[in-house]
Amino acid sequence: METLHKSTTEASLTAVPTEILNYIGGGLKPAQTGKWISNFHPASGRIYGQIAESGSEDVQSAYDAASAAFPAWSNSTAKYRSDLMLRLADLMERDLEVLAFIESYDNGKPLSVARTVDIPRAISNIRFFATAILHGSTEAHDMDGIALNYTLRQPIGVVACISPWNLPLYLFTWKIAPALAAGNTVLAKPSEITPASAFHFSKLCIEAGFPAGVLNVLHGTGPSIGAPLVSHPGIKAVSFTGGTQTGATIASIAAPQFKKLSLELGGKNATLVFADCAFEETVSETARAAFSNQGQICLCGSRILVQRSIYDRFKEAFVAKVKLLKVGDPQDAQSNIGAIVSEPHLLKVLSYVELAKSEGGKLLCGGNRIQVEGLENGYYMEPAVFEGLDPYCRTNQEEIFGPVVTLIPFDTEEEALQFANCTPYGLASSVWTSNLGTSQRVAAKLQTGIVWINCWMLRDLRTPFGGVKQSGVGREGGWEALRFFTEAKNVCIKH
Ligand code: NDP
Repeated sequence: METLHKSTTEASLTAVPTEILNYIGGGLKPAQTGKWISNFHPASGRIYGQIAESGSEDVQSAYDAASAAFPAWSNSTAKYRSDLMLRLADLMERDLEVLAFIESYDNGKPLSVARTVDIPRAISNIRFFATAILHGSTEAHDMDGIALNYTLRQPIGVVACISPWNLPLYLFTWKIAPALAAGNTVLAKPSEITPASAFHFSKLCIEAGFPAGVLNVLHGTGPSIGAPLVSHPGIKAVSFTGGTQTGATIASIAAPQFKKLSLELGGKNATLVFADCAFEETVSETARAAFSNQGQICLCGSRILVQRSIYDRFKEAFVAKVKLLKVGDPQDAQSNIGAIVSEPHLLKVLSYVELAKSEGGKLLCGGNRIQVEGLENGYYMEPAVFEGLDPYCRTNQEEIFGPVVTLIPFDTEEEALQFANCTPYGLASSVWTSNLGTSQRVAAKLQTGIVWINCWMLRDLRTPFGGVKQSGVGREGGWEALRFFTEAKNVCIKH
């Protein structure tokens, strides 16, 4: 293992786990396969640790533990589960700085982002579902004096939660919190590219006093454990966030087994800027929507549609803003953009820069791999802005999932909608206008699961979250997540 980056402080360094173990049956264990995979530090390109590479035997052990834990956990009171989860959230709060450091170190995102977005939102996920279960109710249907129906919402059993690398702990907790709160026991798989925060989280579960087997965290690759997890006959539901292609593979395995399935997939989100927007705020916020987390958020607005009458002014201000974004060491408080998560992903994003050029795009700024002093082998690139590309070309149709955006002019509201809706994806969109009528008309016609008006990524955990078309199936968040992780049973009592 090579030496860690020298600017890392001693205290933070000791917190970064260099050996990532599974959390199965209440204990931390290496994989039964005896195999390990390397863990990379995106900021420097160095290997800094190793990750248990689990296999189907580990999945089976975790399933056995979860299955044994299910009767007691599912029959426990909501208050018991809530108290335990709130204790866990308090421990996360205590370790916020440590978790933020680990997340930034493992993923390459700016420490400032992990500290203010990822970890606080992960804590909120746990607290939200821990308290939601104390305030729920179910439906009753009275049949005019003949009978009364009421709905029981019961935990499903052992469920699988699979999460991606871009917002590691945030999306990991987004799934396991409702699953556990609803009384299920869980097999969770974080991405092997960013497993470190989930490992620290496992330790906090032990400290909080979680009963053995209630939550099991398995590390390894998609093929080594993702596939055995999804196909395991005892697993009753799968909640997955990740790429559309992986989602299709998972659906093809889970559907014939009639498992419940929630899929949160890719996006190619449009940002619609109308001439009557609040100009300065729109420029800043659309730049934030485009490049937050190095453009690696499924909600990032990567196609910016701008009404022609303000197109040139917007382009000039937007490009000037983007040029001010500092790409650098994620630990440096001055960095706005950190490292891309992995070398293969960086190369993929850079290949889209070449594709955009070959499709006739004019590069307005950025687009190059760059070296950061002292971190020469890190995965850094300048944010890229293109114009002059057809809305139907590959660059504007395919998810790049990196710091590459395109500017597209439009003339009318109808044309803006046509361009916004012309991709196979339908996750999120944002609309920037001071006209309430325009915003409401456009919001109703956008083919996305989420529409933000004059804002981006403003999240209320009670709201339904998910996409249409190839961006996913089903909704999570609030009651939608608790519905997904329970089975509804109708009980009919004749009067
Ligand atoms: P992937 O689809 O590659 O991976 C997601 C998770 O699935 C990882 O844990 C991965 O494991 C695992 N996995 C891979 N193959 C399989 C398989 N055959 N069976 C079961 N699990 C498998 O996505 P990324 O991690 O690259 O994440 C980026 C994608 O996620 C983007 O497309 C992005 O849009 C989407 N996303 C969607 C969100 C939404 O809410 N709609 C939110 C955030 C991201 P491993 O990495 O270890 O191989």
